[in-house]
Amino acid sequence: MSRVIAVYNQKGGVAKTTTCVNLSAYLALEGKKVLLIDFDPQANASSGLGHPAKLNEGSIYHGLFGLAEPEALTKPTIFYNFHLIPSSQHLAGALIELVNIPEREYKLKQFIDKIRDKYDYIFIDMPPSLSLLTINGLVAADEIVIPVQSHYFSMEGLSQLLEIIELVHKNISEKGLKIAGAVMTMFDENEPLSHKIADDIATNFPHTIFKTRIPRSAALSEAPSYGRPVILHDPNSTGARAYEHLAKELIAQETTRQFQMPSQMMPAAQAVHNVTSEQVHPLPNEADILIDIKVPTPQPVASGEEPVQQAPFGSAQDKQEEPIHDDAFYF
Ligand code: ATP
Ligand code: MG
Repeated sequence: MSRVIAVYNQKGGVAKTTTCVNLSAYLALEGKKVLLIDFDPQANASSGLGHPAKLNEGSIYHGLFGLAEPEALTKPTIFYNFHLIPSSQHLAGALIELVNIPEREYKLKQFIDKIRDKYDYIFIDMPPSLSLLTINGLVAADEIVIPVQSHYFSMEGLSQLLEIIELVHKNISEKGLKIAGAVMTMFDENEPLSHKIADDIATNFPHTIFKTRIPRSAALSEAPSYGRPVILHDPNSTGARAYEHLAKELIAQETTRQFQMPSQMMPAAQAVHNVTSEQVHPLPNEADILIDIKVPTPQPVASGEEPVQQAPFGSAQDKQEEPIHDDAFYF
């Protein structure tokens, strides 16, 4: 069964694209059939895989509006079982064009549904924003991988992100979105702040945190300029080995991981935020979601919607669900 995974964090520059490109490559190396959809008008994943955005070529924009079939948009990569659907600057205009069409939140899902059976993994490289594009991405995905930079404001960003996921789940997505896990990126082993932030997140983030930490690595930052994943640029670098391990962790989830169910996400957001249920803002109305989901009108949570209690992070229950990995996953 295929997994459609949005790689998302509303914060910019946290390694969403780097994670998409390199996870995809290592999953392909493991024999998985992989499709990466570049869903960011910046088109960094496309250029990082040697297909820089071209205005006169088909892109995910055309797929979104039914102007081209998926097969006509698919580009090859270095692996026969790893395909790319590139982005283009047209996608920036889609934000406005989508607003007045019916089922505007479901366009990417409708596109992916046509091809999901052909792949084991479909990654969506999301833009660093919260917009109608992002909502399309979150609605289309089954799961989310969250890259978290070892940075002072990361915890704050994570609590906002959990709220966004819950809002989309409650108001738009029928099936909900599972959290495959958060992955620490640009981790500096020698920097005390990196460790402090990782510890804070391990204590407070009530979902899976991948054991693999992606270190700062020159090879990872150089590889896109050659239009290649790091596996072809410097496969022995620490960054390359980290993404290889992360791919194995993701594969291990196929059989061992019980995902967090969507109904438990709001308590999770509260846990990170450390707020009471009265302080969590429910979604106001559809128009506001699309225009400014970040500032919903505060309203009290209706009675009878008490948050479901969940086992605290690191509890015995959580530990039973953890996949078994060797310690080499730590970097
Ligand atoms: P955006 O929000 O703009 O889409 P992003 O979250 O996709 O950004 P990337 O483009 O993947 O982030 O990474 C941001 C920058 O950091 C890039 O220049 C990338 O090469 C670099 N980078 C990412 N991960 C690492 C790493 N582990 N070590 C060193 N540099 C990294
Ligand atoms: Mg990006």
